[in-house]
Amino acid sequence: MAPTPMMQQYFQVKSEYVDAFLFFRLGDFYELFYDDAIHASQILEITLTSRGGTGDDRIPMCGVPHHAAKNYIDQLILKGHKVAICEQVEDPKLTKGVVKREVVRLITPGTHTEGKSVDSKSNVFLAAADELSNGFALSYIDISTGESTATYIVGTEKALLQELRSLSIRELVVSEQLFVLLTEEEQDLVLSIETMEEALKANTLLTVNCPEDLHTSCHRLMTYIARTQKQSLDHIQVFSYKENNQLLSIDFHSKRNLELLQSIRGNETKGTLLWLLDETVTAMGSRKLKQWLHQPLANKQMIEERQELVAALIDHYFVRVELQGLLKEVYDLERLSGRIAFGSASGRDLAQLRSSLEKVPMLVEELAKSDNPALLEFSGKLDRCTEVCELLQAISENPPLSSKEGGVIRDGFHERLDEFRDASRNGKDWIAQLEQKERKLTGIKSLKIGYNRIFGYYIEISKANMHLADLERYDRKQTLANAERYTTPELKEKEALILTAEEESLTLEYELFVTIRDEVKQYISRIQRLASSLSGLDVFLSFANIAEKYRFVKPVFNDSTEISIIEGRHPVVEKMLNKQHYVPNNCVLAEDANMLLITGPNMSGKSTYMRQVALTIVLAQIGSYVPAESANLPIVDQIFTRIGAADDLVSGQSTFMVEMLESQYAITHATKNSLLLFDEIGRGTSTYDGMALAQSMIEYIHREIGANTLFSTHYHELTALEKSLEKLHNVHVAAMEQSGKVVFLHKVKKGPADKSYGIHVAELANLPEPILKRARELLKTFEKDKKQQPATIEQLSFFDETDTKKDEILQTIKDVQVSAMTPLQALQMINDLQEKLTNQ
Ligand code: ADP
Repeated sequence: MAPTPMMQQYFQVKSEYVDAFLFFRLGDFYELFYDDAIHASQILEITLTSRGGTGDDRIPMCGVPHHAAKNYIDQLILKGHKVAICEQVEDPKLTKGVVKREVVRLITPGTHTEGKSVDSKSNVFLAAADELSNGFALSYIDISTGESTATYIVGTEKALLQELRSLSIRELVVSEQLFVLLTEEEQDLVLSIETMEEALKANTLLTVNCPEDLHTSCHRLMTYIARTQKQSLDHIQVFSYKENNQLLSIDFHSKRNLELLQSIRGNETKGTLLWLLDETVTAMGSRKLKQWLHQPLANKQMIEERQELVAALIDHYFVRVELQGLLKEVYDLERLSGRIAFGSASGRDLAQLRSSLEKVPMLVEELAKSDNPALLEFSGKLDRCTEVCELLQAISENPPLSSKEGGVIRDGFHERLDEFRDASRNGKDWIAQLEQKERKLTGIKSLKIGYNRIFGYYIEISKANMHLADLERYDRKQTLANAERYTTPELKEKEALILTAEEESLTLEYELFVTIRDEVKQYISRIQRLASSLSGLDVFLSFANIAEKYRFVKPVFNDSTEISIIEGRHPVVEKMLNKQHYVPNNCVLAEDANMLLITGPNMSGKSTYMRQVALTIVLAQIGSYVPAESANLPIVDQIFTRIGAADDLVSGQSTFMVEMLESQYAITHATKNSLLLFDEIGRGTSTYDGMALAQSMIEYIHREIGANTLFSTHYHELTALEKSLEKLHNVHVAAMEQSGKVVFLHKVKKGPADKSYGIHVAELANLPEPILKRARELLKTFEKDKKQQPATIEQLSFFDETDTKKDEILQTIKDVQVSAMTPLQALQMINDLQEKLTNQ
């Protein structure tokens, strides 16, 4: 059977949106057909029906009421699908034949900025990526706030994917070229593909700040947004670009290991550095803090600018309290700007914008009270947006949620609107009077004048009272079970007046509202700049509170690579310990002593110590104070960690493989300005194997990289390295016995840990004496064996010796003057060299 004209239209539209659920508007419903209907009915748990034809010809179909569509769209988007909204773009009453329909918006996970799936305190990022010669161009946007960033990712697809994961990117737009590079599993992450030609058509103004090889990815992103949103995107900001050397780079695994934004287990916020630091009072502030934690700085001047504001706020307690109080009343200016640009802002949104802007002069005044140069300079940059405030005077005090039902524009703003309103209000007064008059005339107390949309105004008289009324005067309108409804000529006349006045008033009011909203649009970039300053202020206030509450100090930066943290603490562990005392520890690393080999029993605090050093660096480089008595720090370029046993369940790799991959990544990317943390390297394989790897890594870092390195190990043998590697020093975390129990002192002390602490602990745990005795004997024999078999262990321990011999041999070959040798001498020399090599 040939499809109906409407279904033909459907096929036409659907062919352009193959990968989306097509919500096809039919009257008050959005309908889905064919496979869309089958899948959606399963996901959304709604009834699958069918239409047209018979038997196999019937078309599977399901539908959702348009007023409830939001919820269903949310569910589909949360599951990673796209939804194309196809509306009727003509008035069906005025059209003959099939109503024209068009897709007005394509909703995708990265562009969905409303609904349950959106957390006000987090960004929703949509990203685009392109392959470059030594890595990738990555650009990303939060279209609800308009913030956009462009950056380079150095490395392979893995590095790119890690960055995408750590930014919690919702959707990635790639080129076909890049798509084929990805594995099947990685392709699942990619929701959209754009061709190059389309991308190049995009607006170029927004990319002025970025190097040229990042442009394509920015353009791809903008084209995609224009294609899916099909509306004004005036709020999209110029792509912000920071050179990688301005930022402290921390890879995805290290961020997870250090629990900066998410805990290792459970991906929660509790127990993370964010959880400790976030005392912001606005959603924008909270988002900004996350961005800073995601990208700490590596530029001394930029860090010190932040520090200066934090210091000033610490010094001015009362100013701080007042500022925070005012900021609490500032709404989410970034998302408000987004809604204004989209044309989806309500009257209430505009009222929120106005009341937020009204706080700016008060904030400026509070900042001035401090009389502090840094705060004064900061306040000088706050834009009061007076023009916007003036425009918004037109909006009423408390506008309703809906902008089409009146009450958005205040009285006295517009003469004609006031006239309409008067007419309708007077009319209503007149009706109230008429009711009184009719009651008197008929003597019926229950007589009332009411209104409904279909019948308009009516006089209602109950059947029981009907005999009292002079029915001649009334025209009957409607009969109910217990009452009759009437009208009179004069009521009819007034009704017409009131209804026209009301209708005209609503139309005019909506027009005025839209005009104001559009005028505000011109000022969006100024509002956004203000928003950025205020969200920054919110974070500085939070830093100041935290510093005071947890006794943090201002770190000082040096121009070398030296770290000197005196009495440092792990702020999150300290907070979690509650009433127990956290044991502070020093960490001092100098250029000629930049590696610590940390030994000590399990649970003594090795890993906590290493993390505390890394967190101190991160805190310092986001501009915060740090948990210590004092801290003199270098500017670190990268932090790498290999901590804990975080199996990469997603890619199904074993712990040991993950350990090796993370080590490989660290060792190949680190520079002498980096910080490396290695916790228990080599644990996942057999003893000698693991120990050999651990040692060779330490030697390599010592020789080739020279980065500040903390290395914890349970291989006691490695402590001997202190003798051969001059920059490496042993420390241990002390434990002791007290009334038959192991007491962890959590104190980091010089020198290696006691070799046989394992047997000590077993002793404390009351293992039977014969077992302990035997263990002590075995330990002795093992140690003796080790000395007798230098070829197995010692050889592993001292690669250096082999290297010296090799060097000698090479030198001999280099030095020899071949032209001055007889063939016999040459043969003799080869023989000598061979002997030297085999004697090793
Ligand atoms: P290890 O890495 O040596 O096995 P951890 O660093 O995991 O040990 O520390 C074990 C526990 O000891 C931590 O969860 C924490 O509760 C406690 N701890 C560690 N360091 C300290 C410290 N400096 N002060 C107080 N408690 C600490």
